[in-house]
Amino acid sequence: MTNNKIYDVIVVGAGSVGTPTAMFLAQKGVDVLVLEKRSSCGQGENKAAIGGVRATHSDPAKIQTCIQSLEVFSTWEEKYGDDIEWKKGGYCFPVYTHDLEELLKSFFPIQRKYGLEIQWKNAGEIEELIPGINPDGLRGGTFSTNDGQVSPLRSSVAFEREAKRQGAVFKYNEPVVSYIIDKGEIQGVITKKDKYFSKQVILATGADAADHSKLLGIDIPVRPDSHEAGISAPIKQFLPPLVVDMRPGPEGKTANFYFGQCKKGQIIFCYTPKNKFYGKNKGNLSEFMPILASRLISLIPKFKNLLIRRTWRGLYPMTPDGIPIIDQVKEVKGLILAVGMCGQGFMLGPGVGKNISSLVVDGSWMLAAEIQKTFSFYRDFSGEEAFK
Ligand SMILES: Cc1cc2nc3c(=O)[nH]c(=O)nc-3n(C[C@H](O)[C@H](O)[C@H](O)COP(=O)(O)OP(=O)(O)OC[C@H]3O[C@@H](n4cnc5c(N)ncnc54)[C@H](O)[C@@H]3O)c2cc1C
Repeated sequence: MTNNKIYDVIVVGAGSVGTPTAMFLAQKGVDVLVLEKRSSCGQGENKAAIGGVRATHSDPAKIQTCIQSLEVFSTWEEKYGDDIEWKKGGYCFPVYTHDLEELLKSFFPIQRKYGLEIQWKNAGEIEELIPGINPDGLRGGTFSTNDGQVSPLRSSVAFEREAKRQGAVFKYNEPVVSYIIDKGEIQGVITKKDKYFSKQVILATGADAADHSKLLGIDIPVRPDSHEAGISAPIKQFLPPLVVDMRPGPEGKTANFYFGQCKKGQIIFCYTPKNKFYGKNKGNLSEFMPILASRLISLIPKFKNLLIRRTWRGLYPMTPDGIPIIDQVKEVKGLILAVGMCGQGFMLGPGVGKNISSLVVDGSWMLAAEIQKTFSFYRDFSGEEAFK
Protein backbone atom coordinates (compact mmCIF):
# COMPACT_ATOMS: atom_id res chain seq x y z
CA MET A 1 0.00 0.00 0.00
CA THR A 2 1.53 3.29 -1.04
CA ASN A 3 2.22 5.75 1.73
CA ASN A 4 1.64 9.30 0.46
CA LYS A 5 3.54 10.93 3.26
CA ILE A 6 6.43 13.07 2.04
CA TYR A 7 9.54 12.67 4.20
CA ASP A 8 12.16 15.43 4.44
CA VAL A 9 14.88 12.87 3.71
CA ILE A 10 15.09 9.18 2.81
CA VAL A 11 18.31 7.37 3.67
CA VAL A 12 18.94 4.16 1.74
CA GLY A 13 21.01 1.73 3.83
CA ALA A 14 21.26 1.42 7.63
CA GLY A 15 24.99 0.73 7.82
CA SER A 16 28.13 2.43 9.10
CA VAL A 17 27.18 5.64 7.30
CA GLY A 18 23.38 5.58 6.90
CA THR A 19 22.58 5.00 10.57
CA PRO A 20 24.58 7.89 12.09
CA THR A 21 23.52 10.11 9.18
CA ALA A 22 19.85 9.45 9.99
CA MET A 23 20.62 10.15 13.65
CA PHE A 24 22.25 13.53 13.06
CA LEU A 25 19.45 14.54 10.69
CA ALA A 26 16.78 13.52 13.20
CA GLN A 27 18.60 15.39 15.97
CA LYS A 28 18.27 18.52 13.83
CA GLY A 29 14.53 17.99 13.55
CA VAL A 30 14.53 16.46 10.06
CA ASP A 31 11.78 13.94 9.30
CA VAL A 32 13.85 10.92 8.18
CA LEU A 33 12.95 7.52 6.78
CA VAL A 34 15.65 4.84 6.59
CA LEU A 35 15.12 1.91 4.24
CA GLU A 36 17.31 -1.14 4.76
CA LYS A 37 17.25 -4.37 2.80
CA ARG A 38 18.48 -6.51 5.70
CA SER A 39 16.56 -7.32 8.85
CA SER A 40 18.30 -4.87 11.23
CA CYS A 41 20.90 -2.11 11.28
CA GLY A 42 24.62 -2.69 10.84
CA GLN A 43 24.23 -6.08 9.16
CA GLY A 44 26.11 -5.16 5.96
CA GLU A 45 29.82 -4.39 6.10
CA ASN A 46 29.42 -2.50 9.37
CA LYS A 47 29.54 -5.73 11.34
CA ALA A 48 32.56 -6.98 9.36
CA ALA A 49 34.66 -4.04 10.59
CA ILE A 50 37.06 -4.67 13.45
CA GLY A 51 36.23 -1.30 14.99
CA GLY A 52 39.42 0.68 14.50
CA VAL A 53 38.76 4.43 14.52
CA ARG A 54 41.59 6.77 13.61
CA ALA A 55 42.16 10.22 12.24
CA THR A 56 45.59 9.02 11.07
CA HIS A 57 45.24 9.61 7.34
CA SER A 58 47.24 11.55 4.78
CA ASP A 59 44.28 13.43 3.34
CA PRO A 60 42.86 16.53 5.11
CA ALA A 61 39.21 15.65 4.39
CA LYS A 62 39.59 12.19 5.92
CA ILE A 63 41.60 13.53 8.87
CA GLN A 64 38.99 16.13 9.74
CA THR A 65 35.97 13.87 9.15
CA CYS A 66 37.48 11.22 11.42
CA ILE A 67 38.31 13.78 14.10
CA GLN A 68 34.57 14.57 14.08
CA SER A 69 33.79 10.84 14.32
CA LEU A 70 36.22 10.37 17.20
CA GLU A 71 34.50 13.14 19.09
CA VAL A 72 31.22 11.23 18.74
CA PHE A 73 32.60 7.78 19.67
CA SER A 74 34.73 8.96 22.59
CA THR A 75 31.94 10.91 24.28
CA TRP A 76 29.03 8.61 23.44
CA GLU A 77 28.77 6.73 26.73
CA GLU A 78 29.04 9.91 28.76
CA LYS A 79 26.31 11.63 26.69
CA TYR A 80 23.89 8.78 26.00
CA GLY A 81 24.78 6.05 28.50
CA ASP A 82 25.38 3.15 26.08
CA ASP A 83 28.64 1.23 26.43
CA ILE A 84 29.86 1.05 22.83
CA GLU A 85 33.19 -0.42 24.03
CA TRP A 86 35.19 2.72 23.26
CA LYS A 87 38.86 2.24 24.07
CA LYS A 88 41.22 5.18 23.64
CA GLY A 89 44.51 3.38 23.09
CA GLY A 90 45.77 5.36 20.10
CA TYR A 91 47.03 3.98 16.77
CA CYS A 92 50.59 2.81 16.36
CA PHE A 93 52.49 2.11 13.12
CA PRO A 94 55.72 0.30 14.13
CA VAL A 95 58.56 0.83 11.64
CA TYR A 96 61.40 -1.51 10.64
CA THR A 97 62.73 0.20 7.50
CA HIS A 98 64.25 3.57 6.67
CA ASP A 99 61.87 4.03 3.71
CA LEU A 100 58.73 3.55 5.78
CA GLU A 101 60.08 5.86 8.48
CA GLU A 102 60.65 8.58 5.87
CA LEU A 103 57.23 8.01 4.31
CA LEU A 104 55.28 8.16 7.58
CA LYS A 105 57.22 11.18 8.82
CA SER A 106 56.55 12.97 5.52
CA PHE A 107 52.83 13.04 6.40
CA PHE A 108 53.37 14.72 9.79
CA PRO A 109 53.16 18.36 8.57
CA ILE A 110 49.80 17.85 6.84
CA GLN A 111 48.44 15.60 9.61
CA ARG A 112 49.35 18.13 12.31
CA LYS A 113 48.09 21.08 10.27
CA TYR A 114 44.62 19.50 10.16
CA GLY A 115 44.47 18.65 13.85
CA LEU A 116 45.93 15.15 14.26
CA GLU A 117 48.02 14.60 17.39
CA ILE A 118 50.80 12.34 16.12
CA GLN A 119 54.32 11.73 17.38
CA TRP A 120 57.36 9.73 16.43
CA LYS A 121 58.30 7.24 19.17
CA ASN A 122 61.72 5.61 19.43
CA ALA A 123 62.13 1.82 19.54
CA GLY A 124 62.11 1.67 23.34
CA GLU A 125 58.89 3.66 23.51
CA ILE A 126 57.25 1.40 20.93
CA GLU A 127 58.26 -1.63 23.03
CA GLU A 128 56.44 -0.04 25.95
CA LEU A 129 53.34 0.61 23.83
CA ILE A 130 53.37 -2.88 22.30
CA PRO A 131 54.81 -5.21 24.98
CA GLY A 132 56.42 -8.26 23.39
CA ILE A 133 56.92 -6.70 19.93
CA ASN A 134 59.79 -8.20 17.94
CA PRO A 135 62.72 -5.81 18.68
CA ASP A 136 64.98 -7.02 15.81
CA GLY A 137 65.48 -4.03 13.53
CA LEU A 138 62.71 -1.99 15.16
CA ARG A 139 63.44 1.69 14.41
CA GLY A 140 60.48 3.26 16.22
CA GLY A 141 57.05 4.17 14.96
CA THR A 142 54.24 6.68 14.83
CA PHE A 143 51.68 7.04 17.58
CA SER A 144 48.43 9.02 17.34
CA THR A 145 47.13 9.50 20.85
CA ASN A 146 43.44 10.22 20.31
CA ASP A 147 42.56 7.29 18.02
CA GLY A 148 40.98 4.14 19.37
CA GLN A 149 38.62 1.22 19.02
CA VAL A 150 34.90 0.75 19.42
CA SER A 151 32.32 -1.96 18.74
CA PRO A 152 30.71 -1.48 15.30
CA LEU A 153 27.50 -3.34 16.11
CA ARG A 154 27.03 -1.72 19.51
CA SER A 155 27.58 1.71 17.93
CA SER A 156 25.15 1.00 15.13
CA VAL A 157 22.44 -0.08 17.56
CA ALA A 158 23.14 2.94 19.79
CA PHE A 159 22.92 5.33 16.81
CA GLU A 160 19.70 3.68 15.64
CA ARG A 161 18.18 3.97 19.12
CA GLU A 162 19.02 7.66 19.36
CA ALA A 163 17.79 8.27 15.79
CA LYS A 164 14.46 6.62 16.63
CA ARG A 165 14.24 8.57 19.88
CA GLN A 166 14.50 11.71 17.76
CA GLY A 167 11.71 10.50 15.49
CA ALA A 168 13.53 8.76 12.62
CA VAL A 169 11.67 5.80 11.13
CA PHE A 170 13.60 2.63 10.19
CA LYS A 171 12.02 0.08 7.87
CA TYR A 172 13.82 -3.25 7.51
CA ASN A 173 13.57 -5.97 4.85
CA GLU A 174 12.86 -3.16 2.39
CA PRO A 175 15.37 -3.25 -0.47
CA VAL A 176 15.16 -0.15 -2.66
CA VAL A 177 14.74 -1.44 -6.19
CA SER A 178 14.02 1.76 -8.10
CA TYR A 179 13.87 5.55 -7.88
CA ILE A 180 11.16 8.03 -8.82
CA ILE A 181 12.86 10.80 -10.78
CA ASP A 182 10.95 13.55 -12.55
CA LYS A 183 12.64 16.12 -14.81
CA GLY A 184 16.04 15.41 -13.24
CA GLU A 185 14.73 15.74 -9.68
CA ILE A 186 14.32 12.93 -7.19
CA GLN A 187 10.79 12.41 -5.87
CA GLY A 188 11.11 9.16 -3.95
CA VAL A 189 12.06 5.51 -4.00
CA ILE A 190 10.39 2.20 -4.71
CA THR A 191 11.08 -0.83 -2.54
CA LYS A 192 9.94 -4.42 -2.98
CA LYS A 193 6.99 -3.54 -0.72
CA ASP A 194 6.03 0.08 -1.28
CA LYS A 195 6.73 3.58 -2.63
CA TYR A 196 8.10 6.34 -0.40
CA PHE A 197 8.32 10.02 -1.25
CA SER A 198 10.96 12.64 -0.55
CA LYS A 199 12.81 15.29 -2.51
CA GLN A 200 16.06 14.38 -0.77
CA VAL A 201 17.54 10.89 -0.90
CA ILE A 202 20.88 9.83 0.56
CA LEU A 203 22.46 6.76 -0.97
CA ALA A 204 24.44 4.89 1.70
CA THR A 205 24.38 1.39 0.26
CA GLY A 206 28.03 0.48 0.85
CA ALA A 207 29.31 -2.41 -1.27
CA ASP A 208 26.06 -2.37 -3.30
CA ALA A 209 26.43 1.27 -4.40
CA ALA A 210 27.32 0.55 -8.02
CA ASP A 211 24.15 -1.56 -8.41
CA HIS A 212 22.24 1.74 -8.22
CA SER A 213 24.14 3.31 -11.14
CA LYS A 214 21.69 2.21 -13.82
CA LEU A 215 18.67 2.98 -11.65
CA LEU A 216 19.92 6.54 -11.16
CA GLY A 217 21.46 7.08 -14.60
CA ILE A 218 24.93 7.86 -13.22
CA ASP A 219 28.13 5.85 -12.99
CA ILE A 220 29.04 5.18 -9.33
CA PRO A 221 32.65 3.88 -9.31
CA VAL A 222 32.50 1.59 -6.28
CA ARG A 223 34.01 -1.88 -6.64
CA PRO A 224 34.01 -4.11 -3.56
CA ASP A 225 36.88 -6.39 -2.72
CA SER A 226 37.12 -8.84 0.14
CA HIS A 227 39.21 -8.83 3.29
CA GLU A 228 39.44 -11.36 6.05
CA ALA A 229 39.32 -10.74 9.77
CA GLY A 230 39.36 -12.76 12.95
CA ILE A 231 39.00 -12.60 16.70
CA SER A 232 40.67 -14.55 19.49
CA ALA A 233 39.47 -15.74 22.85
CA PRO A 234 39.91 -12.98 25.45
CA ILE A 235 43.29 -12.60 27.11
CA LYS A 236 44.57 -10.29 29.86
CA GLN A 237 44.72 -6.64 28.71
CA PHE A 238 48.26 -5.80 27.55
CA LEU A 239 47.93 -3.93 24.25
CA PRO A 240 46.63 -0.34 24.43
CA PRO A 241 46.95 0.80 20.77
CA LEU A 242 45.57 -0.53 17.55
CA VAL A 243 48.63 -1.62 15.57
CA VAL A 244 49.13 -1.27 11.82
CA ASP A 245 51.88 -3.51 10.47
CA MET A 246 53.13 -2.29 7.09
CA ARG A 247 56.05 -4.71 6.72
CA PRO A 248 56.05 -6.92 3.63
CA GLY A 249 54.39 -10.21 4.55
CA PRO A 250 55.26 -13.73 3.41
CA GLU A 251 53.45 -13.14 0.10
CA GLY A 252 55.67 -10.13 -0.73
CA LYS A 253 54.66 -6.50 -0.47
CA THR A 254 51.25 -6.25 1.15
CA ALA A 255 48.84 -3.57 2.06
CA ASN A 256 48.01 -3.11 5.71
CA PHE A 257 47.59 -5.75 8.33
CA TYR A 258 46.12 -4.37 11.54
CA PHE A 259 45.02 -5.59 14.93
CA GLY A 260 44.15 -4.48 18.42
CA GLN A 261 42.83 -5.71 21.72
CA CYS A 262 39.13 -5.13 22.36
CA LYS A 263 37.89 -3.65 25.60
CA LYS A 264 36.81 -7.16 26.62
CA GLY A 265 40.25 -8.66 25.95
CA GLN A 266 39.95 -10.36 22.55
CA ILE A 267 42.63 -9.74 19.92
CA ILE A 268 40.85 -8.65 16.73
CA PHE A 269 42.65 -8.43 13.40
CA CYS A 270 42.17 -7.77 9.69
CA TYR A 271 44.30 -8.51 6.67
CA THR A 272 44.42 -6.90 3.23
CA PRO A 273 45.71 -9.43 0.70
CA LYS A 274 48.26 -8.53 -1.95
CA ASN A 275 46.13 -10.00 -4.70
CA LYS A 276 42.68 -8.49 -4.58
CA PHE A 277 39.57 -10.66 -4.37
CA TYR A 278 37.03 -8.54 -6.23
CA GLY A 279 33.31 -9.22 -6.02
CA LYS A 280 30.85 -9.88 -3.25
CA ASN A 281 31.69 -13.43 -2.27
CA LYS A 282 31.88 -13.38 1.52
CA GLY A 283 32.18 -17.11 2.01
CA ASN A 284 34.86 -17.41 4.65
CA LEU A 285 37.42 -19.66 3.01
CA SER A 286 40.17 -18.80 5.53
CA GLU A 287 42.61 -18.41 2.66
CA PHE A 288 44.24 -15.55 4.51
CA MET A 289 44.49 -17.30 7.87
CA PRO A 290 47.95 -18.89 7.46
CA ILE A 291 49.35 -15.55 6.27
CA LEU A 292 47.57 -13.71 9.02
CA ALA A 293 48.83 -16.08 11.72
CA SER A 294 52.44 -15.82 10.60
CA ARG A 295 52.19 -12.01 10.40
CA LEU A 296 50.85 -11.83 13.96
CA ILE A 297 53.49 -14.18 15.38
CA SER A 298 56.40 -12.58 13.55
CA LEU A 299 55.48 -9.18 15.03
CA ILE A 300 54.53 -10.37 18.52
CA PRO A 301 56.01 -13.86 19.05
CA LYS A 302 53.95 -14.59 22.20
CA PHE A 303 50.82 -14.63 20.00
CA LYS A 304 51.79 -18.21 19.09
CA ASN A 305 49.61 -19.24 22.05
CA LEU A 306 46.59 -17.21 20.93
CA LEU A 307 43.36 -19.14 20.50
CA ILE A 308 41.48 -17.89 17.43
CA ARG A 309 37.73 -18.19 17.95
CA ARG A 310 36.30 -17.07 14.63
CA THR A 311 37.25 -15.65 11.24
CA TRP A 312 35.09 -13.90 8.68
CA ARG A 313 35.29 -12.24 5.34
CA GLY A 314 33.80 -8.88 4.46
CA LEU A 315 33.95 -6.24 1.76
CA TYR A 316 35.67 -2.89 1.37
CA PRO A 317 33.53 -0.71 -0.92
CA MET A 318 36.51 0.65 -2.89
CA THR A 319 36.76 3.69 -5.13
CA PRO A 320 39.59 3.89 -7.68
CA ASP A 321 41.58 6.38 -5.54
CA GLY A 322 40.73 5.04 -2.07
CA ILE A 323 38.73 8.14 -1.11
CA PRO A 324 34.97 8.15 -0.39
CA ILE A 325 32.34 9.87 -2.51
CA ILE A 326 30.30 12.27 -0.42
CA ASP A 327 28.58 14.70 -2.70
CA GLN A 328 25.42 16.11 -4.21
CA VAL A 329 24.63 14.71 -7.64
CA LYS A 330 24.17 17.36 -10.34
CA GLU A 331 22.37 15.01 -12.73
CA VAL A 332 19.68 14.10 -10.14
CA LYS A 333 18.66 17.04 -7.98
CA GLY A 334 18.08 16.03 -4.37
CA LEU A 335 20.35 12.97 -4.49
CA ILE A 336 23.36 12.80 -2.17
CA LEU A 337 25.96 10.03 -2.47
CA ALA A 338 27.64 8.77 0.71
CA VAL A 339 29.40 5.72 -0.72
CA GLY A 340 32.83 4.24 -1.50
CA MET A 341 34.02 4.29 2.11
CA CYS A 342 36.80 1.76 1.33
CA GLY A 343 38.37 0.25 4.47
CA GLN A 344 37.29 3.15 6.70
CA GLY A 345 33.53 3.51 6.53
CA PHE A 346 33.01 2.72 10.17
CA MET A 347 35.43 5.37 11.41
CA LEU A 348 34.13 7.88 8.86
CA GLY A 349 30.43 7.22 9.50
CA PRO A 350 29.57 9.71 12.27
CA GLY A 351 31.70 12.47 10.70
CA VAL A 352 30.06 11.89 7.32
CA GLY A 353 26.64 11.96 9.00
CA LYS A 354 27.40 15.27 10.72
CA ASN A 355 28.52 16.81 7.44
CA ILE A 356 25.50 15.62 5.52
CA SER A 357 23.12 16.85 8.20
CA SER A 358 24.83 20.24 8.03
CA LEU A 359 24.41 20.30 4.25
CA VAL A 360 20.73 19.31 4.40
CA VAL A 361 19.73 21.60 7.25
CA ASP A 362 22.14 24.53 7.04
CA GLY A 363 22.86 24.40 3.31
CA SER A 364 26.63 23.99 3.62
CA TRP A 365 29.16 21.29 4.44
CA MET A 366 30.94 21.51 7.79
CA LEU A 367 34.29 20.98 6.09
CA ALA A 368 35.82 23.94 4.26
CA ALA A 369 35.03 23.83 0.53
CA GLU A 370 38.65 23.19 -0.54
CA ILE A 371 38.79 20.20 1.82
CA GLN A 372 35.32 18.82 1.06
CA LYS A 373 36.12 18.78 -2.67
CA THR A 374 38.38 15.75 -2.09
CA PHE A 375 35.12 13.76 -1.68
CA SER A 376 33.65 15.10 -4.94
CA PHE A 377 31.78 12.73 -7.23
CA TYR A 378 33.24 14.79 -10.10
CA ARG A 379 36.96 14.37 -9.32
CA ASP A 380 39.11 12.37 -11.75
CA PHE A 381 39.83 9.50 -9.29
CA SER A 382 43.43 9.34 -10.50
CA GLY A 383 45.32 9.65 -7.18
CA GLU A 384 45.77 7.13 -4.40
CA GLU A 385 45.36 7.85 -0.69
CA ALA A 386 48.32 6.48 1.28
CA PHE A 387 46.21 5.12 4.14
CA LYS A 388 43.32 3.76 2.08
C1 LIG B 1 37.30 -7.34 7.54
C2 LIG B 1 36.99 -5.88 7.58
C3 LIG B 1 37.49 -5.06 8.58
C4 LIG B 1 37.20 -3.71 8.61
N1 LIG B 1 37.67 -2.95 9.63
C5 LIG B 1 37.36 -1.63 9.67
C6 LIG B 1 37.79 -0.83 10.75
O1 LIG B 1 38.47 -1.29 11.67
N2 LIG B 1 37.44 0.49 10.76
C7 LIG B 1 36.70 1.04 9.76
O2 LIG B 1 36.43 2.24 9.79
N3 LIG B 1 36.27 0.29 8.73
C8 LIG B 1 36.58 -1.02 8.65
N4 LIG B 1 36.15 -1.77 7.61
C9 LIG B 1 35.43 -1.12 6.50
C10 LIG B 1 33.99 -0.86 6.87
O3 LIG B 1 33.39 -2.06 7.30
C11 LIG B 1 33.23 -0.32 5.65
O4 LIG B 1 33.97 0.72 5.03
C12 LIG B 1 31.91 0.28 6.09
O5 LIG B 1 31.15 -0.65 6.81
C13 LIG B 1 31.12 0.77 4.89
O6 LIG B 1 30.03 1.50 5.41
P1 LIG B 1 28.73 1.71 4.53
O7 LIG B 1 27.71 2.37 5.38
O8 LIG B 1 29.13 2.35 3.25
O9 LIG B 1 28.28 0.22 4.18
P2 LIG B 1 27.46 -0.81 5.10
O10 LIG B 1 27.83 -0.70 6.52
O11 LIG B 1 27.59 -2.13 4.43
O12 LIG B 1 25.97 -0.28 4.96
C14 LIG B 1 25.29 -0.30 3.71
C15 LIG B 1 23.88 -0.77 3.99
O13 LIG B 1 23.09 -0.61 2.82
C16 LIG B 1 22.20 -1.72 2.74
N5 LIG B 1 21.72 -1.81 1.36
C17 LIG B 1 22.41 -2.16 0.27
N6 LIG B 1 21.63 -2.11 -0.83
C18 LIG B 1 20.39 -1.71 -0.40
C19 LIG B 1 19.17 -1.47 -1.05
N7 LIG B 1 19.04 -1.64 -2.38
N8 LIG B 1 18.11 -1.08 -0.31
C20 LIG B 1 18.21 -0.92 1.04
N9 LIG B 1 19.37 -1.15 1.70
C21 LIG B 1 20.45 -1.52 1.00
C22 LIG B 1 23.05 -2.89 3.19
O14 LIG B 1 22.27 -3.98 3.58
C23 LIG B 1 23.84 -2.26 4.33
O15 LIG B 1 23.20 -2.44 5.58
C24 LIG B 1 36.40 -3.15 7.58
C25 LIG B 1 35.88 -3.95 6.59
C26 LIG B 1 36.17 -5.30 6.58
C27 LIG B 1 35.59 -6.15 5.50
